[in-house]
Amino acid sequence: MKDADLRARAAKVVPGGMYGHLNAALFAPGFPQFFERGEGCRQWDADGREYIDFMCSWGPVVLGHRHPRVEAAAARQAALGDCLNGPGAVMVELAELLVDLIPSADWAMFSKNGTDATTQALMVARAATGRTKVLMAHGAYHGADPWCTPSPAGTTPNERADLVEFTYNSLESLEAAAATVEGDVAAIIVTPFKHDSFEDQELVEPAFARGARALADRIGAALVIDDVRAGFRIDLRGSWEPYGVRPDLTAWSKAMANGYPIAAVTGTDALRGPAQTLYSTGSFWFSAVPMAAARATIETLRDTDGIAAMERAGAQLREGLYAQAKAHGFVINQTGPVTIPWLSFDGDADLSVAMHWSDACLRHGVYLHPWHNWFLSAAHTEQDVARALEGTDAAFAETRAHFG
Ligand code: PMP
Repeated sequence: MKDADLRARAAKVVPGGMYGHLNAALFAPGFPQFFERGEGCRQWDADGREYIDFMCSWGPVVLGHRHPRVEAAAARQAALGDCLNGPGAVMVELAELLVDLIPSADWAMFSKNGTDATTQALMVARAATGRTKVLMAHGAYHGADPWCTPSPAGTTPNERADLVEFTYNSLESLEAAAATVEGDVAAIIVTPFKHDSFEDQELVEPAFARGARALADRIGAALVIDDVRAGFRIDLRGSWEPYGVRPDLTAWSKAMANGYPIAAVTGTDALRGPAQTLYSTGSFWFSAVPMAAARATIETLRDTDGIAAMERAGAQLREGLYAQAKAHGFVINQTGPVTIPWLSFDGDADLSVAMHWSDACLRHGVYLHPWHNWFLSAAHTEQDVARALEGTDAAFAETRAHFG
């Protein structure tokens, strides 16, 4: 088996065989580690097993793998050059597109990963305010740098010392957190909804979103939305735009370029000057191919109403799963937006039922995740979801047989 062979070889030359949250040892036993290819809403692992994919590469693949318009744009740019002495015209075109699309964006800066963007957004906020502290929700994930990694390994307490935690959706807790560091809050950083791993997701209370905006205004701090995970799957204008709440800064990445590596911070005019003062750069931050892919991805989402397609597929999946769970005698919770869903089993505190079920789903050609939210893409058709539901139904039956 190729996957097993690659794992054995990797164990000798890669720390732990694989490091970080993609280590297949963290999932149910049947999860493949290595993948060979993707097409539309399908992926094939190193052993050639085919899956209907509900992880979308942990978010980036929003239009489906190898989307023709994105691939053509990337190939056109690649034929001219990718990593040049400076950015191409495409950087300006992409920034113009974001400024045009996102009401809270008067400018955009680019980098590579979501962590670059959240870190850069906080640097802009600190440069603008001259303050130190950042309010963040307890348990929220904002990236893997020392200031935000959920694991203390390799970091010092000092690196997190400027964070003050609050409880998501509790305005009282947010106000209390702000009061403990009165006069020194540079930013409130918040995800558009609560999507912590291992837990049911929680949509934002509109009153909390509005309250966070009002508090930031009152204390002169920047409101930063971390839209790295949710961006381009809820509302192309920004995930709190439906609530009428506009951030000062937004961090974007994942779905921005259908899998090509790019991230962005967008911000308001008031923060343009401070943004300009940062020393914030990277050797590959200005490569042109991902920028061309980002332009094509965002334009395609806009022109084809890609979010509506994801919503239809996500609603079909959610309805189907509820009906199947009921038929097999399981009580399940499905939480978060339908385009970024998650399923948990009632009373499954140690996730053993979820582990068993997701493992069975894999054997029936459906790739989803036992403790991290899933992602829909615009490539998931009604037929694909119907086919996936056949697999999940068989998995519910096997899980019922196993647990009795
Ligand atoms: N913020 C959020 C909300 C995320 O979901 C992630 C990635 N899972 C990040 C930041 C960090 O992004 P990256 O892994 O690209 O650095």
